[in-house]
Amino acid sequence: MSLPIIARVDRARIGGHWVTDAVVELSDTGMRLVPEGQALPRRLRRIEGALLPPITDAHVHLGLADAALSGPSALGRMLDLGWAPEALPGLIDAAHSAHRGLDARFAGPFHAAAGGYPSGRSWAPPGSVAELADPAAAARSVRAQAAAGASAIKVTLNSEAGPVPDDALLGALAAEARAVALPLVAHAQGHGQVERALAAGVDVLAHTPWTERLSDDVIRAAAASQTWISTLAMHGRDGDELGFARATDNLARFAASGGAVAYGTDLGNGLRRFTIDPNEIAALRQAGIEGTALVDALLAEWLLPPGPTLGIFFAQVHDDESVVANLHRAGSLPYTWFDTEDVDLEEFDTEEDA
Ligand SMILES: [Zn+2]
Repeated sequence: MSLPIIARVDRARIGGHWVTDAVVELSDTGMRLVPEGQALPRRLRRIEGALLPPITDAHVHLGLADAALSGPSALGRMLDLGWAPEALPGLIDAAHSAHRGLDARFAGPFHAAAGGYPSGRSWAPPGSVAELADPAAAARSVRAQAAAGASAIKVTLNSEAGPVPDDALLGALAAEARAVALPLVAHAQGHGQVERALAAGVDVLAHTPWTERLSDDVIRAAAASQTWISTLAMHGRDGDELGFARATDNLARFAASGGAVAYGTDLGNGLRRFTIDPNEIAALRQAGIEGTALVDALLAEWLLPPGPTLGIFFAQVHDDESVVANLHRAGSLPYTWFDTEDVDLEEFDTEEDA
């Protein structure tokens, strides 16, 4: 834990609004505007550029991606949506070494019915699937993930690939996730699974539904209660044009109904490079998610609570349109960097008296 930093920044996006020449407090719990009239320290840091919450890929599998390779990445944050809990700390350490300041969040294992997806898949290592025998086992596992620092709980409802949790098991996962204040994220695949997830109170879908065109009623109910992680471009990688078209249509109607969308790629599934995927951005735009809606999706503020990492642009970024135009120039910046010489900062004495 470090003390909060008070800084004056050229521009900042706070709560979805852009402010110019803002005095902000940066802490372990994100960035906030210092209210006018609040006493300021005698010396303020000056940050040139534009600060915003970190650009987030809300669906990755670190164990299948190249996040341990260094190289520029516009991503400041990621959410691992399924891996063996004992392997995650090592993967996250490696990703941190390659991407200083990366805010790496995780869900822990895939919770599944006994024999359910993705157990038996060659890419799913031992320990990555928690096959649940009964509701008590579900509750125990959720508490264990929360204790390990998870940011979400993952469940698989894939009826096309084996048994799925019954309503009692799914209900226990949802209730326990709510009790530990973590979102329950479902992989819903196969007829009726989206409806089951909705009825059980699942907070997030890990993929935009693609196996069927959802009715407007289902779309409206989902938009009122869920966040959907986009993962549209994975269908292009799989050569599944019909899946892509269905998912894009479902997401367009979900977003138009006011549903919360989070940018996510399923990084590791046919995509290894740890950076923004231009195909996912293009697909989101095809679903009508542009400008502010696109920036909101990239920041995923409604999915994950804020942390110490911020996104920064040194280029001329002053609104959501210019963020989208400059995505390739984004960097990430944990506030601890302010103690180093790595970024373009200049300290100056303020006029204000403490
Ligand atoms: Zn995935």
